[in-house]
Amino acid sequence: MTFSQKILEYPWDDLENAIFQASHRDVEYALSANPILFKDFLALLSPAAEPYLETMAQISHRVTVQRFGRVIQMYAPLYISSECTNSCVYCGFNRHNTIERATLTMDEVFTEAEELSRAGFQHLLLVSGESPRHVPVEYMADIAKKLSTRFSSLAIEVYPMSTESYSTLVNSGVDGLTVYQETYHLGRYKEVHPAGRKKDYDWRIDTPDRGGQAGFRRLNIGALLGLSNWRVEGAYLALHAGSLAHLYWKSHLSISFPRLRPAFGGYEPEFPVDDAQMVQLLCALRLWMPEAGLVMSTREPASLRDHLIPLGITHMSAGSKTAPGGYKTNRDREGQFEVSDHRSPREVSEMILSRGYEPVWKDWDRAFLDHALGHPLRIDSSEC
Ligand code: SF4
Repeated sequence: MTFSQKILEYPWDDLENAIFQASHRDVEYALSANPILFKDFLALLSPAAEPYLETMAQISHRVTVQRFGRVIQMYAPLYISSECTNSCVYCGFNRHNTIERATLTMDEVFTEAEELSRAGFQHLLLVSGESPRHVPVEYMADIAKKLSTRFSSLAIEVYPMSTESYSTLVNSGVDGLTVYQETYHLGRYKEVHPAGRKKDYDWRIDTPDRGGQAGFRRLNIGALLGLSNWRVEGAYLALHAGSLAHLYWKSHLSISFPRLRPAFGGYEPEFPVDDAQMVQLLCALRLWMPEAGLVMSTREPASLRDHLIPLGITHMSAGSKTAPGGYKTNRDREGQFEVSDHRSPREVSEMILSRGYEPVWKDWDRAFLDHALGHPLRIDSSEC
């Protein structure tokens, strides 16, 4: 059962009521439960849990260190195109915005990748607006084939595709898929996605399922905080993550919870989320899914990112640019949104070390996959 079917069992109002009716006693029970059930998780998202934030943070820290150690996986986004056929009201790449559009040539992609490689990155996230005409599958497959000889991990955050297209990309060297539902509230979803292919809620919500069926090693989902009530969005995120982890158990599941940032077009979030609420969501998700990766991008300010490290974050970007060519080819181009943390990768890396954690630039190699598929590990003696 894909998530577009499963979600019908969980009406928005039912989850909202359960969250807002949770009592202090429910929260205390949830904090002592092992394992926690979904109703306990809802209590952790509730207003009643706010006085227990310190306790939640301590447990979250302990669970994360047990599962992951003190490491932060580093990655960088590489924007390959700002062309988009959609009109998401909160996004700088909205097709109605009069910004300079660009799609990188192969040479420009490699120039940008070279710059990121020099900064130490081995994990890249290839990002684009949603325009299959400007960013066809073949173009991405070509990029992946070439970059996969140089980088240990490539993920994509582009337009939702069919399982067959995803299989083509997996076979070309892409191992991770990122796709955010933005909001799980159907009515809000339709309001903020008024035109284009993205209007189709079900097509989007089943995208990670198609990715799991195609064999991506990593699946990353998320909700864009600020579009609707964050507590209920958190509940759906947890359900979605649980469903994917159950069905596609060979894929590692991670969750992002980006907050809306200023972008060209001037959209203001109608449901702002403050820092304490971000921490509550992060800790609740960690207690619900101890083994899930939790991703924090440069959307968030440096001071908050620094403080969230011990609480459960496992993946971080650094030095990010959100325009195609932003690292080297055209540094003045308008980006998708404004980043908050402007520190260089080296500065972020030093900050992580100063907090007793280790920044990890490479935690996986395609040779592992070959081995898992029954091929012998290739060892090139000239590199020994
Ligand atoms: S959020 Fe994505 S799909 Fe929507 S306008 Fe921006 S780039 Fe296009």
